[in-house]
Amino acid sequence: MSHPIPNVLTIAGSDSGGGAGIQADLKTFSALGAYGASVITALTAQNTHGVSAVHAPEAAFVTAQLDAVFGDIRFDAVKIGMLANAGIVRAVASALRRYRPKYVVLDTVMISKNQHALLDPEAVGALRDELLPLAGLVTPNLPEAAALLGEPEAADEAAMLRQGEALRVLGAQAVLMKGGHLPAPDSPDWFVAATGAQRFGGPRVAVPHTHGTGCTLSAAIAALVAQRGDWASAIAEAKTYLLDALRESVRLQVGSGTGPLHH
Ligand code: PLP
Repeated sequence: MSHPIPNVLTIAGSDSGGGAGIQADLKTFSALGAYGASVITALTAQNTHGVSAVHAPEAAFVTAQLDAVFGDIRFDAVKIGMLANAGIVRAVASALRRYRPKYVVLDTVMISKNQHALLDPEAVGALRDELLPLAGLVTPNLPEAAALLGEPEAADEAAMLRQGEALRVLGAQAVLMKGGHLPAPDSPDWFVAATGAQRFGGPRVAVPHTHGTGCTLSAAIAALVAQRGDWASAIAEAKTYLLDALRESVRLQVGSGTGPLHH
C-alpha cells in the first residue's frame, strides 16, 4: 500500500488576494503531499499592496470550528498563523490543551509588510504565556522575537541565538529564529532545541515577490514534519521548498504590488 496522506490543519487568517494566510497554507500543504483543513481566525481585505481591513469572528466561532474538525479528523500536524486578538489566542490554546495534536508549528504573526496589525499589540502577552508552551516549534522573525521577549531586536547571530534560547525556556519545545532581517549575505535561520542549536543558511533570492513567505515556510514545516517525524529534516526541506516557490514567483502576474509565491 502507498503511504497514507497526512492530515494537516492550518489555524490562520484569510488573505483575499490569495498570497498569504490560509490560502498560502492550503496550497503549500497540497504541493507537499498533505491533505489540508482550515480553521479561519480572521478575514482580511487584502491585495498585493497590503491589508486594508480585518474582520475577526467571535472567539466562540473559532472554538466551534476547532471542535468540528478535531472532533472528526485526526491531524498529523497543526500550523498556527494570524490570531487577531487575545480572545482567539485563548480559544486556540484551550483547543490544543483539549485535543493535544502531536506536532504544532506556531508562526507568531504580528504585522503585515504594509504595517497593518494582524495581532492586537495587547495580545502579545497571551500568545507568549498561553500558546508558546503548547508549541512544538515557534517560528518568529526578529521583530516578533523582540516583541515576545520585550527586548531590542537581535542585531547579530549571537543575539539571535540568545533570544531563541530565551523563547525556548519560556516553554516552546524548539524555536526557529528567522534571520532574514539581518544584513547578512545569506539569510541565516537558527534552530534552537533542548539538544542544541543548528544554523540553516540559504541564499537570498532577489525577486520582488515575497508576500506570504513566512506563512509558506511554517506551513511547509507542518506538512513535512508530519511525514519526516523530526523538526530539523522538516526545516531543511521546507527551506528548499520556499526557495523554489520564490524563484517560480517570477512566472506569476498577480497584482501590481508585492506579489505572491508560486506553489
Ligand atoms: N495576511 C495574512 C492573513 C497573514 O497571515 C500574513 C502573514 O502571516 C500576512 C497577511 C502578511 O503577509 P506579508 O507580510 O508576507 O505580506
